[in-house]
Amino acid sequence: MSEYTQRIDVARRIMEASDVDALCLSVGSDLPYLTGYKAMPLERVTMLIVPRSGRAHLVVPGLEAPRVSVPDDAFEVVGWAESDDPIAAIDGYLGDAVTVAVGDETWATFVLDLQSSNPARSYVGASNLMAQLRMHKSQDEIVALRNAARTVDAVVDEMANVRFSGRTERSISREFIDRTISLGHDTMDFGIVASGPNGASPHHEPGERVIEQDDAVVVDFGGTQAGYCSDTTRMFVVGRAPYGFDAAYEVLREAQAAAVDAVRPGVTAESIDAVARDIITDAGYGDLFIHRLGHGIGMDTHEHPYIVEGNDQVLEPGMAFSIEPGIYTPGEWGMRIEDIVAVTDEGVERLNRSDRAYRVVD
Ligand code: ZN
Ligand code: ZN
Ligand code: ZN
Repeated sequence: MSEYTQRIDVARRIMEASDVDALCLSVGSDLPYLTGYKAMPLERVTMLIVPRSGRAHLVVPGLEAPRVSVPDDAFEVVGWAESDDPIAAIDGYLGDAVTVAVGDETWATFVLDLQSSNPARSYVGASNLMAQLRMHKSQDEIVALRNAARTVDAVVDEMANVRFSGRTERSISREFIDRTISLGHDTMDFGIVASGPNGASPHHEPGERVIEQDDAVVVDFGGTQAGYCSDTTRMFVVGRAPYGFDAAYEVLREAQAAAVDAVRPGVTAESIDAVARDIITDAGYGDLFIHRLGHGIGMDTHEHPYIVEGNDQVLEPGMAFSIEPGIYTPGEWGMRIEDIVAVTDEGVERLNRSDRAYRVVD
């Protein structure tokens, strides 16, 4: 049995338990997770229809159909011609389904068309359903995440020998991206290089600022390798760390390490956030840690489970997520340390293993 058939089976069990009659998935990662097929984000509709029982159908624009391969008959491919009405076809495959769960990234226009073609159905979000599936990674998925992590770790080590000062953030970002691709990534999703005061903005867009002596530089980069994402943050300091930096960095490292060590099956996502936040708060930096501790990762960089106050999701073996506390002093500097970890049967595996001390560069 292919992994796709298995995943569709599990999806059906979750549908049963949550009173969903049919599942509709379009663009985004949910579709390749269940079918192995990634739809182009086109105005022409692509939709996988999985009824609770009976055949699953993948309705695709006819010209895309040759790109779909169907592992062990997991679903049936239906190509539609330019003059066909794909919404009517989808409605037909939905049959007598009343409650239809729709994938998060399905375009509103497709959902609105479906709604008006059959107002008797009720449409609900598929986020929870798909999260329950995708949060539980298989061994193969953990291997893919580990390989992606190894690649970015190697790039961090390479970049520790590179000159930063006198170069723009954009050029350093470009170099991180190019090296990551050449070491094995297929695509890059982001390459944040935030120097000096720009470091205080967690998702700073690297720009024309020229990196100076005594700048602290936040580097947060990631992409995909064999379909799975990487995401790591390390700090680089040009020459000497700015005023106040070293004391805060010691607290940040301690908080990050303690949160990683607290990860094991049976504890909640929010309890891990609290471990890091308490240490940072007790040291007096609580107001400067302005975001959640982490996010799940897999085929998407940000997915469930979110490591945030209020999320009482219990951690289970196979879950993978980031642990990335940060301290940001507006107008001065910022700092963040980020590793991807996976929950194991007994505890935790750190997938990122490059040195967490800041790297002193020229
Ligand atoms: Zn982020
Ligand atoms: Zn990151
Ligand atoms: Zn992250």
